[in-house]
Amino acid sequence: MNSGSAVVVGAGIAGLATAIGLRRAGWTVEILERRAGLERYGTALGIHPTAQTALDRLGVGRALTERAVPYRSAQIRRPDGRVLARLPLERVERAAGRPELLISRPHLLDALVAALDAFGDVPVRFGHHVADVPELARGRDLVIGADGINSAVRTARFGRRSAVRTVGTVAWIGITDIETGRYGETWGRGAFFGMTPVEPGRTNWYATVPEATTAGELRDTFARWHDPIPRLLAEGDPAHWIRYEMRHLHPALPSFVHPSGVALVGDAAHAMTPNLGQGACTAILDAEALTRALTTHGPAAVPAALRAYDRERRRPAQRVALGSRTLHRFAMTSHTGARDALLRLLPG
Ligand SMILES: Cc1cc2nc3c(=O)[nH]c(=O)nc-3n(C[C@H](O)[C@H](O)[C@H](O)COP(=O)(O)OP(=O)(O)OC[C@H]3O[C@@H](n4cnc5c(N)ncnc54)[C@H](O)[C@@H]3O)c2cc1C
Repeated sequence: MNSGSAVVVGAGIAGLATAIGLRRAGWTVEILERRAGLERYGTALGIHPTAQTALDRLGVGRALTERAVPYRSAQIRRPDGRVLARLPLERVERAAGRPELLISRPHLLDALVAALDAFGDVPVRFGHHVADVPELARGRDLVIGADGINSAVRTARFGRRSAVRTVGTVAWIGITDIETGRYGETWGRGAFFGMTPVEPGRTNWYATVPEATTAGELRDTFARWHDPIPRLLAEGDPAHWIRYEMRHLHPALPSFVHPSGVALVGDAAHAMTPNLGQGACTAILDAEALTRALTTHGPAAVPAALRAYDRERRRPAQRVALGSRTLHRFAMTSHTGARDALLRLLPG
């Protein structure tokens, strides 16, 4: 069979997953990554059952479940510890027949790289910063923009109308060697704190606070919040905490594909605030949908495959991004009385 040739820009979750799908479909693939090596930092990522199914289809599902832990029960609380609502994790598990999973970002990247290495013929060229997208496209059937929130591929094909916006907050994230079994989010006035399982004996946490808050100020901000929040911060090492600026892409793109043979996946297509915990999930769903469309249509019908991918993924991904941004506003509001009253009305 005459196979297509593709270049993937970016070796993050979206790029690696797309390269796996393309190679499974018989394509010749190479990955270009600007960094000198794989960027393996990060804490826990939530993987929804739909994204688990997509990883199964990409042949990576088993490796994922070996390192992941289930996320079955969590509450939303006030800073004094009173429960306002439950996260719908049991409902997700009942509907899907499998639980939401949490996996550390380095473990997910390792699983994707191992799957790629098993092919033995998909080069990852590190230290290759892509700037000239038309030149890259020459002689290839497809360019995949998996180059994250500041995507050069997106800018080259769609200009700067959809741009990266900050939302005025940062998320400090970390993992502390304490396991309390108390998970979920605690919403205060203009700040919130989240805790999830990640591996036995450890708790993954994230603290969303105004942009100017330093690591040093974090312990003071949460000092009077309920247990185990102050303990998680007191016993963690700030040298290992990571600061994420909360950003998203706005306005939403008119298309995830370009007729010149370009497809965008992951944050390049729909960077979102992390409030719904769907950034990695949507990247995986994009990769699986795009490579499935290319398999169905064959390398001779790339334009039709790209249109099918855009039809399947653009609206759902943009809805998730909007939902995440709306949840960010709701969680960070200073009108906590009205917000908490609304939360108490949620079923369960
Ligand atoms: C605080 C926080 C918590 C989160 N929690 C969750 C969660 O619970 N669940 C979840 O699903 N998601 C979560 N996410 C989001 C998730 O981490 C990302 O959305 C997801 O990893 C996107 O992957 P990506 O491959 O599209 O982009 P990236 O991981 O950004 O990868 C892009 C790659 O492209 C490379 N690159 C960039 N420009 C170029 C260039 N010009 N040339 C060559 N290479 C280039 C970069 O170096 C990078 O390696 C969270 C995010 C944050 C900030």
